[in-house]
Amino acid sequence: MAKRKSFEEKSKGMHKSRKLIIDTVFGREDNTQRVFGYEGDTNKKREVGERWTDAEGKEWEKKEGYVTNVTKMDDVRDYLKKLTTCKSENCKTIQYSSADKKLIVRTGLCATCLAKMESKLREDGTYPFYEDYKITLNKLSYVREIKDQYEDNFKNLKSHFEIVNENGTLSKWEWQVDIEKVKTDLKNDIDGAYDAIEALLERKVALENKLRELNHPELIKN
Ligand SMILES: [Zn+2]
Repeated sequence: MAKRKSFEEKSKGMHKSRKLIIDTVFGREDNTQRVFGYEGDTNKKREVGERWTDAEGKEWEKKEGYVTNVTKMDDVRDYLKKLTTCKSENCKTIQYSSADKKLIVRTGLCATCLAKMESKLREDGTYPFYEDYKITLNKLSYVREIKDQYEDNFKNLKSHFEIVNENGTLSKWEWQVDIEKVKTDLKNDIDGAYDAIEALLERKVALENKLRELNHPELIKN
């Protein structure tokens, strides 16, 4: 079996910001930044596998090539576990299928528990509102994305572009359109997106009130 690469080797080609995120989440040791220690701790040599608690009560573990914050990692692990576990108290699913896993991320429930929950909603008459609510939220996030795209396009709109070539020369490119007309059209689309967002937000609030009235506040998403 190939020898496992050390973190240093692996991170050589990694983008700076990505490395920073990984370092922060995993509490990795970095030459320019001290991630642990109080007086007396700073120069102490640790063996791989050794665990200790610092002055602030945080638990650390020495790994091959880096130090990890055990307390923080446990939090992250707990959080990830919650994201991948069906939240129903009566869940009897022993092994999640890949469909279950996707549904848990999206709805918090495995397929069986989601079906049970939805059939209860059908019985008490909540289902049509619940479905309408889900559709409204989907449309809202879609229109918000589109609006952001339009606004980006509007900001970067130009009738000509200059491209710097590899050898330092400039290439000019002219767009044969009526730029004012393009701007007006795009502006109309952006206004239309804002109107749609406003209408969808109104519908969202109305449906949330209805779900509360039907004693299902747990269906409301933040
Ligand atoms: Zn379940």
